Amino acid sequence: MELTTSQGLFDRSKSHIPGGVNSPVRSYSNVGGTPPFIASGQGSRIVDADGNSYIDYVMSWGPLILGHAHPDVVEAVRTQAALGVSYGAPTELELELAEMITGAFASMDMVRLVNSGTEACMTALRLARAYTGREKILKFEGCYHGHSDGLLVSAGSGAAYLSEATSAGVTEAQASDTFVAGFNDLRQVESIFENAGERIAAVIVEPVAGNMGMVLPEPGFLEALRNITSEYGSLLIFDEVITGFRVVYGGYQDYAGVTPDITCLGKVIGGGLPVGAYGGSEEVMRTVAPLGPMYQAGTLSGNPIAVAAGIATLKALRDPGIYQAFSALTERLCSGLEAICGEAGLSLQINRLVSMWDVHFSDSPVTNYADAAASDAEAYTGFFHAMLNGGIYLAPSAYETSFVSTAHTEADIDETLDAARRALVEG
Ligand code: PLP
Repeated sequence: MELTTSQGLFDRSKSHIPGGVNSPVRSYSNVGGTPPFIASGQGSRIVDADGNSYIDYVMSWGPLILGHAHPDVVEAVRTQAALGVSYGAPTELELELAEMITGAFASMDMVRLVNSGTEACMTALRLARAYTGREKILKFEGCYHGHSDGLLVSAGSGAAYLSEATSAGVTEAQASDTFVAGFNDLRQVESIFENAGERIAAVIVEPVAGNMGMVLPEPGFLEALRNITSEYGSLLIFDEVITGFRVVYGGYQDYAGVTPDITCLGKVIGGGLPVGAYGGSEEVMRTVAPLGPMYQAGTLSGNPIAVAAGIATLKALRDPGIYQAFSALTERLCSGLEAICGEAGLSLQINRLVSMWDVHFSDSPVTNYADAAASDAEAYTGFFHAMLNGGIYLAPSAYETSFVSTAHTEADIDETLDAARRALVEG
């Protein structure tokens, strides 16, 4: 077999990289088959090693809000690369990105740039522990905050406040420092706080969950988290790694009117290059070294090329009309999909928010992880492959969110709907 086909490359990769991939979901283990190896991307489209072109709704899992190879981002990267790729010393570019972020988030006086969302969330928890002097944290089932040890846990089968590691290599002690509640389940949150509120350093939540498919917070949920954390002296951490600059210029916190103590960012703020960030009030951020006792560092943190790409991306998003255009495009897609489901006699749950959307193969609304897990995974797999064959690149897992970018057009949406009709009605 030719080694430059996706199949050939995948076979070769499996000898050198675990599972042939550098992040597990890329391996197609959830949906079966061979992942297309991507050779290039332009605007809303990607082309694989076999020469197939797809309309892309994964968009590198969220960062590419301007689409692939946006001219401003490419130019920023090229210009900075010619000036040096890394210095390990402060630059004006880092300051500019930090000012853009703190200017867009009222909750952040200060922000520290890191290299990934994982790093941002891991450090936000350390910061919350350092600031409060407490050990425990509370997360929600189905929310993903990167792969640091204490976050790879799920609710245990016994009492709601006992969690279990979801990865080998996570110690019982690490898992037992993390309580897990159901997303949108305030009763469980209250019961955990009643038992252990004085020991909880922070509650961390994706304000719109994007890692069990897309699941919106129910009205009052985020406000209640704000109230209970304030009441017990715990910090509230919004993981806006997906939602940051995705639904408004700023965070979902502006959209919802709920102010967290610490915010985690990633994805969009790097425009497709590795950048993450965590930030909060000056009082909280004074805990961070070199100002305070909580250590955190990074050889490539604030990397000038990555930061230049992030600045170019955020500058392009400053026009509020962009977010209205996202909503119109997403609505065209989702209402089109609903009409097709009507034709096919299917009742799918199609969640959407501005530039985020998602299809759950479920008859009833999906409001938490249990609902998402009860969706028909086999039906999603069939839909996924039919769409891929029809030139539409969706996430190879029912537990992800899809994205539109400024590069997607109405023609892209209509082509996507044609493929969906073939998949759901004619298929
Ligand atoms: N937080 C959320 C909400 C995410 O979706 C992700 C990744 O998908 C992360 C954190 C981790 O980010 P990264 O993959 O950049 O480490």
